[in-house]
Amino acid sequence: MDACRKEVQGRRGQEGSEVIVMKERTLLLIKPDALQRGLVGEILARFEKKGFKIVGLKMLHVSKELAKEHYAHLVDKPFYHDLEKFVTSNPLVAAVVEGKEAVEVVRLIVGPTNASKAPGGTVRGDFSNSTSRNVIHASDSKETAEKEIKRFFKPAELFDYKLNNEQYLYASDE
Ligand code: UDP
Ligand code: MG
Repeated sequence: MDACRKEVQGRRGQEGSEVIVMKERTLLLIKPDALQRGLVGEILARFEKKGFKIVGLKMLHVSKELAKEHYAHLVDKPFYHDLEKFVTSNPLVAAVVEGKEAVEVVRLIVGPTNASKAPGGTVRGDFSNSTSRNVIHASDSKETAEKEIKRFFKPAELFDYKLNNEQYLYASDE
């Protein structure tokens, strides 16, 4: 399943116009620190309330191999050992969300890596004051999202379904 695709669904909006739904998908990892701190529901709710559709959701224990693959761009960094220990220490919650400009908008909601400098209102700004225990991961580009979704979810674990309130989430030309 592509992380980013545009699809004319052929349904009728409230005013009779065709509803065009932008289906872009991105991966979220609600990290072990958030799980331990009882923040999973509150963090997931932020994306639901924004209008993103949850199309995949699971809990898993990340292995060292999976951590090395997921954080391949960081394995040479001095903090990698701590990062690997942290993400493999306890289970986390993985989710795939879908909606208009999902990759970019989700990163805005997540906030910058250094949560100490993350604005209030962002997930990291509201729930963390750390660069390494920053509660959430989100894919940083459409290409990354496509790879990361496949890394964490089998095709059968992703769901195509209609949200009944879609016509209230987007205008027909969005
Ligand atoms: N990280 C860390 N120390 C650092 C930088 C990053 O522990 O100095 C961890 C942190 O958990 C971060 C993850 O490595 O979320 C991935 O880093 P990246 O630069 O990709 O940031 P992100 O995309 O998560 O904002
Ligand atoms: Mg990153």
